[in-house]
Amino acid sequence: MPEIALKGIPASDGISIGPSFRYIPVDLAIPEFSPGTADEEMARFNVARDHAISELQELREIVFERAGEEEAAIFEAHQVMLQDPALESRFREFVESGQTAEGALDKAVKELAGMLSGMGDELFAARALDVKDVGRRLLRILLGLPDTALDAVTEPVIIMAEDLTPSDTARLDPQLTLGFVTERGGLTSHSVILARTLGLPAIVGMGDGFLENIPNGTLVILDGDSGELIVSPQENNVDRYIRTRQQRLRQRQILQEAAEKDAYTSNGRRVEVAANIGDVETARIAVENGAEGVGLLRTEFLYLEDTKPPSEERQYVAYRAIFEVMGERRVIVRTLDIGGDKPPTYLPFPQEMNPFLGWRAIRISLEEQDLFKTQLRAILRAAHGFSGSIMFPMISDLNELRRAREIVEIVKEDLARESIPFASDVPVGIMVETPAAAMLVDLLAQASDFFSIGTNDLTQYTLAVDRGNPKVAGLFQPLHPSVLRLIKQTIDVAHNHGKWVGMCGEMAGMTKAIPILLGMGLDEFSMSPRAIPTAKNLIGKLPDHKTQQIAAQALSLPTAADIEAYLQTVLNELVD
Ligand code: PEP
Ligand code: MG
Repeated sequence: MPEIALKGIPASDGISIGPSFRYIPVDLAIPEFSPGTADEEMARFNVARDHAISELQELREIVFERAGEEEAAIFEAHQVMLQDPALESRFREFVESGQTAEGALDKAVKELAGMLSGMGDELFAARALDVKDVGRRLLRILLGLPDTALDAVTEPVIIMAEDLTPSDTARLDPQLTLGFVTERGGLTSHSVILARTLGLPAIVGMGDGFLENIPNGTLVILDGDSGELIVSPQENNVDRYIRTRQQRLRQRQILQEAAEKDAYTSNGRRVEVAANIGDVETARIAVENGAEGVGLLRTEFLYLEDTKPPSEERQYVAYRAIFEVMGERRVIVRTLDIGGDKPPTYLPFPQEMNPFLGWRAIRISLEEQDLFKTQLRAILRAAHGFSGSIMFPMISDLNELRRAREIVEIVKEDLARESIPFASDVPVGIMVETPAAAMLVDLLAQASDFFSIGTNDLTQYTLAVDRGNPKVAGLFQPLHPSVLRLIKQTIDVAHNHGKWVGMCGEMAGMTKAIPILLGMGLDEFSMSPRAIPTAKNLIGKLPDHKTQQIAAQALSLPTAADIEAYLQTVLNELVD
């Protein structure tokens, strides 16, 4: 067979080389026979369900051993799905209308899965796969068949399948599985999440029909980083991938070591590398990637998920869970930053020509004080016993900051009067994301304990370029000299007033920008969790005297394009 190179969606990192094994799930055809009474069919369903729950318990234990509690939780969710009253009552309706248990189950599952996948959301579509998985399990048990998924594999192979359910993936024996490739599937499916935890390289979404031409036992190379699949590779390609795999493993090892240590520049200046997160799940990923704290906790998710504002208790539970995951590390909670581009239904949003210049962030909080106070109460309570800070978004003058701080004080007094435990000594800072704030750091320093530069908005407002408009995306240049001057000015002035300065805009995680930001003296870099290991590794290679020269040189250049090009050469030299 000649070499063929194919491409799918890279789903789980790593390179594997080995023989293919095509996984075809047992055909669960629904037999035609006359049903018993509705009660008899219902009783069959109940027996099968109990059996399925105990099978899932066994799977939970296997996955718990191999991958840990979090991954095992999916099978707990499957157990819960089996007990879903909606599924049961729909099932009952079908058996009462004269269906067999098998037929009723098939219909009820298809209905529920169809509804989930029709919602047009990737996450719901992934849940539809879970529902089908649970349905297949029940059907197999009703048909009296054993759970034989993937038992036929006897040597290390790369699994090829149309799709893999979470149950299939959980049953994969790590000793015998080099990776998997599927025709369908998305990046948020539980199979992919499990593959990442188990360190199994994987590619999904190869497209229907790709399996047709690959006989079992064909040698394949699977590159989970790029999504490339090479079928029947030539010998030189096999050698090349073996070398690439070794290089990547070495690189990963270096990054892993950097991630585990606190960040210092090569001359020993301590720099904090923190994470931007929005929920407890990302908090866990942040810790795994070596986050030394949370530089930005976006709280918007709580406000956009419902048709009413989140209660104090709902927020308390969400924030507390995040503090618990982060332990002793500092967590900076940013207060509400919603606006007219994504208006929640419960706030009186006017029709706005320019929502980003409109009723947004702190402007809403200062007008809707009950909403603001509820959030502050939840944050202060959740931070009790932890290292929390509060940060206000979109501040543009001292008056706004003072009014916001006054409300924090009122909330503290209320909590004290009600004898509710709360963190009384929480530092309060602001985001520097309007050019106005960047120009007024000397004044704002009177009332701000720290500053965090939000380059996403700072770039948008400085350059008058809508950050979400693809038509002007090319003009959105965080490395524009005007933005860099404002950043430098912010850091210098804040330091003169004894305040630390972080950055939580996307620029903090850009490898190109890190040398120049270090040279300007930035104290904290907060970024998406997966960017942390690379950033820490880079910081550790750079001495201050060199980054200061880089910053000075970059600031002397006239355009963003010149600065970009210069920083690229700096990076290339570092990599060599
Ligand atoms: C920013 O503006 O840089 C920032 C971090 O905030 P957000 O992206 O949430 O507006
Ligand atoms: Mg912002």
